[in-house]
Amino acid sequence: MKSKKFNIDTSVIHSGDSENQTDAIVPPIYHSVNYRGKSLDKIVKAALRKRPLNFYGRYNNPLVQQAGKICSDLEKTDDALILESGMAAISTALTCILKSSDHIIAQKNLYAGTTKYLRDILPRFGIKTTFVDQKNTDSFKKAIRYNTKIIYVETPSNPMMNITDLHYIGKLGKRHSIMTMADNTFLTPVNQNPVNFGIDVVLHSGTKFLGGHSDLLAGVICSKKNFIEKCWEYAHIAGHVLSPFEASLLLRGLKTLTLRVRKQNESALKLANYLTLHPKVKKVYYPGLENFPQHELAKNQLKKSAAGFGSMLSFELKADYRKTKLFIESLKLWTLSVSLGGVESLAMHPASMWIAYYTKEQFRRIGISESMVRLSVGIESADDLINDIEICLKRI
Ligand SMILES: *Cc1c(COP(=O)(O)O)cnc(C)c1O
Repeated sequence: MKSKKFNIDTSVIHSGDSENQTDAIVPPIYHSVNYRGKSLDKIVKAALRKRPLNFYGRYNNPLVQQAGKICSDLEKTDDALILESGMAAISTALTCILKSSDHIIAQKNLYAGTTKYLRDILPRFGIKTTFVDQKNTDSFKKAIRYNTKIIYVETPSNPMMNITDLHYIGKLGKRHSIMTMADNTFLTPVNQNPVNFGIDVVLHSGTKFLGGHSDLLAGVICSKKNFIEKCWEYAHIAGHVLSPFEASLLLRGLKTLTLRVRKQNESALKLANYLTLHPKVKKVYYPGLENFPQHELAKNQLKKSAAGFGSMLSFELKADYRKTKLFIESLKLWTLSVSLGGVESLAMHPASMWIAYYTKEQFRRIGISESMVRLSVGIESADDLINDIEICLKRI
């Protein structure tokens, strides 16, 4: 059933209503894996349907479907598939249409798991990726080959906050009949809708902002119906499926997405401005700052109704590794942790985190230095968050 298009603040609460077949406001968790057949014919029919709800748990689940309905409305696509992690969504979207000897163009600076999938796993199946500089639009065009199937981007990227020109990528893909995919985890559909720029597939780690409470893993693929069906054909055979319990947590998290993200946007901008002025800070990487090199591009890609530039930011201290470590480990209110997008504010040291993925030379080329700190701003008081940083900067 096609639901009416709502404003995003309504969508997060009501876009999935049509999928709730009960009168319960909060739908029950259907943890049954299999369903009683009314007749043999009916079971056979269900087995042959796409994404049947009353058949077997790996094929579909009412709550998973309900969460998908909301996500497709948020990203303005026909359809969505929810899987058990962001990486399941990313690998499924890629793998379901690729075959041996296909070619991908991706930006150099991507979520580390995605880089590893493209760089280390897909080549084993004869699928090669050319990695290009996301800030140089021409480099995408130049990398196109006769067998290029996918252009894959992420904007802003992690941890440099570089922006990819989605309008350019969308047009390039259309002109050359290459499918375009964008990981929209960082900005969320509250701030950015890649399909507005002609991007074909929008991906999310639902583990981050969509879930929002650091208590579930999930992944989302948003696209046209026929592509989502291809994803499902692959995913349910490869064994990718979100558990109904996680789906229920995702539905709960989604309800407050817009409130959380707006507050996080606001606090991140405050923090970025504070850090910019601090004498012990060398450089701040936040697209919302007017002196950020790609500020105009970032601004143009935000939704008109968007409240801001997201809540991920990085900065470099005027300090060596030892002092940077001391700073991060002294933080009281900020938690030293990987991941992002939850209600609690997190700090991380990218150079330590990605040592397993990149060589020193790659670090240097990407721009990750030993004095860099990455922040994921939560929903606590911005003043308290700044105060904690202020105290710790005094110690170095
Ligand atoms: C975390 C993350 C992923 C991977 O998501 P998981 O849920 O951990 O599998 C992909 N892309 C981005 C931008 C992320 O931050």
